[in-house]
Amino acid sequence: MIDLRSDTVTTPTDGMRKAMARAEVGDDVYGEDSTVNRLQDMAAALLGKRAALFVPSGTMANQLAIRSQTQPGQEVIVESTCHIVRYEQGAAGALAGVQLHWVTGERGIMTAEQVEAAIRPKDPHSIQTALICLENTHNAGGGTIYPLSTIEKIRTVAVKHGIPMHLDGARLLNAVAATTLPPASYAQHFETISMCLSKGLGAPVGSLLISSDLSLIDRARRFRRMYGGAMRQAGILAAAGIYALEHHVTRLKEDHDHAKKLARLLQRIPSVQIASQHVETNIIIFDVVDHRRPPTELVAALKEQGVLINAIGGQRYRAVTHLNISSKQIDEAGEIFARILAR
Ligand SMILES: *Cc1c(COP(=O)(O)O)cnc(C)c1O
Repeated sequence: MIDLRSDTVTTPTDGMRKAMARAEVGDDVYGEDSTVNRLQDMAAALLGKRAALFVPSGTMANQLAIRSQTQPGQEVIVESTCHIVRYEQGAAGALAGVQLHWVTGERGIMTAEQVEAAIRPKDPHSIQTALICLENTHNAGGGTIYPLSTIEKIRTVAVKHGIPMHLDGARLLNAVAATTLPPASYAQHFETISMCLSKGLGAPVGSLLISSDLSLIDRARRFRRMYGGAMRQAGILAAAGIYALEHHVTRLKEDHDHAKKLARLLQRIPSVQIASQHVETNIIIFDVVDHRRPPTELVAALKEQGVLINAIGGQRYRAVTHLNISSKQIDEAGEIFARILAR
């Protein structure tokens, strides 16, 4: 099966499994898991920050960032199609008690002007803006890379208004691989960054919350406990993360090349509408104009031929390349798409 539903479907490689089996562990609630500590130090250093916290999921990392930097009744600026809005079960409202202020960006990217217009005045009537969240790369936007110049402009606005910034960097290293910019060039503009190990990096479990503010990380550690995310001998999982950071970062470029190639193959199919210049990283979003078959049928027909993708509403579909997809499979998928979608 050529599984292009998501880069979360990646499974640990033999090397990663060996690293996990060998991991030195301890009780991380006591701060005694040396492998967790090593992963946290590595991740912080990678982004040029002072500390990191290992957590079970990207959702938890985002939610700890929100909970640690806001008070109930405040507002957080987000892009309207971001993960925090769509895929976190309303946690920002349910767990942090904040209201989300949606700004609709262009393929997930907000402008500094939009962000500034969304900041509430500091008067006694208005709700108070506590945090600005960006997502890089932007998942629903189609793996869009936030231009560094746009981040810098948004940062200028944030500093002017004294508002901290959080980056949902679930796929930050995809942006890094695509642009070859140093990770810290993005990270320097944010108080907190979340990063997933379980997407294209191929670890089975785990994300990180990264920051230079040590008291913020201490607060986040307490909320991690509150949210049920404090783990014990988590070094088994952290070892997979270390392995991923050591072996699977530079290869992300391959996934991007595969995505561009698949986009070119899709572009040749008359019923497919795709702006291939919009395939910037490992996510391909495309439309199929098929008046006879509803999306569920189309997805099922592809599955029968060995290709899995997600229908994401209307005529729109999403395919994601990753560690477990070879160049040969991209060619095969291209042929299967051509065969099924031509009918
Ligand atoms: C996957 C993802 C997350 C976190 O997802 P989990 O499944 O909770 O690990 C956060 N943000 C973005 C943009 C994502 O794609």
